[in-house]
Amino acid sequence: MSSLWISNARVIDPASGRDEVGNLFISDGKIVASLSAAAKKSAKKIDARGLIACPGLVDIHVHFREPGQTHKETIATGSQAAAAGGFTSVVCMPNTSPVADTAGTIQYINDAIRRDAVVKVYPTGCITVGMKGQSLAPIGSLKRAGVVAITDDGDCVQNNEVMRRAAEYAKMFELPIMDHCQDASMTQGAVMNEGIMSIRLGLRGWPNAAEDVIVSRNVILSTYTGAHIHMQHISSRNSVEILRRAKARGVHVTAEATPHHIALTDAELATYDTNFKMNPPLRTEADRQEIIAGLRDGTLDCISTDHAPHTDYEKDKEFDYAPNGILGLETSLAVTLQVLVRENKFKLPYVIDLMTRKPAEIVKLQAGTLAEGAAGDVCLFDPDEEWVYQSKKGFSKSSNSPWNGETLKGRVKTTIVDGRIVFANGKIK
Ligand SMILES: [Zn+2]
Repeated sequence: MSSLWISNARVIDPASGRDEVGNLFISDGKIVASLSAAAKKSAKKIDARGLIACPGLVDIHVHFREPGQTHKETIATGSQAAAAGGFTSVVCMPNTSPVADTAGTIQYINDAIRRDAVVKVYPTGCITVGMKGQSLAPIGSLKRAGVVAITDDGDCVQNNEVMRRAAEYAKMFELPIMDHCQDASMTQGAVMNEGIMSIRLGLRGWPNAAEDVIVSRNVILSTYTGAHIHMQHISSRNSVEILRRAKARGVHVTAEATPHHIALTDAELATYDTNFKMNPPLRTEADRQEIIAGLRDGTLDCISTDHAPHTDYEKDKEFDYAPNGILGLETSLAVTLQVLVRENKFKLPYVIDLMTRKPAEIVKLQAGTLAEGAAGDVCLFDPDEEWVYQSKKGFSKSSNSPWNGETLKGRVKTTIVDGRIVFANGKIK
């Protein structure tokens, strides 16, 4: 029997309402209320004075690129980046190569997870065959193979009848649908937010109305079918308002916001730096403020990174040709603390809830709490430590981050999965 005794931490567990300086005990991989005198003697001890101990962070939107694009990231490196960022459970997207639209591919991914992952990684399956938006993937067999949700993330199912049938199947198999909300007909060739900045920079813009149209469609289809539809990376202020009204009516929709959409705006694109290019794009200050308001009033349910690794040679192109996406796992906690806690005065336990219990609930993971009997998944962090993030020295295989070289405040010290230390003092164990 192996035990871990974390002492003197400020233990914050929003799910059980705990917020106090004290002890946290783990025995045989599970949180326990106390240890016997003998177990205390033999336990591994961590003095966490000055640190926060919270449930291991949960991210329901990452791209680990395996199979097929392992020059960008692998399940091994992606899960290490997750551990370094304080995450103990992550959900990976199916837009791999091949895409994860069959039970066989899910089996391959699950084998790689068992072999290589240092944190818990859960796969998703595609909504449609080949992510082409035309015919439904075998949703029942994907569920049996172990997916926690279905999504065509990266693409958005354009055909409303296909999406309606997907919603009916998802409801039948009790899976959430996660949708990347983008009307393709309104965003042809677009590389940034449509607005004053896109005119000034001479780049093709994607209007936030293209997101609003699909968010509205999904609210209608969720109402009609009863399916749970989760909106990924909300970037438009109008989408927040649409979701606010839908939730007030009890529609089964949930939504996430990324650290970059709450921290940055399209003004960053003035330098044409492709590490500010992502999809959906950075938008205006008014959008950013409304997303923060949506997180504050519960319209938006959680923080997700959309961790999207690309190599330097892929990102090092003219803005129009560079791929969309940035890293997120190793900077998410610090950026979120900065924007929500320090700049917008959110309470720390509430922000931890947005990064633990609430995302876990969306895909029904047994995670996100330090209650007795829960998995011994813990993140220990110093909310005040300042550090310089150097993306090339991170654990991801890629380094495409807009925060490269920036001084960040709030640093993960130790990450524990099932009572086992997987990351400590800057190193993977
Ligand atoms: Zn997406």
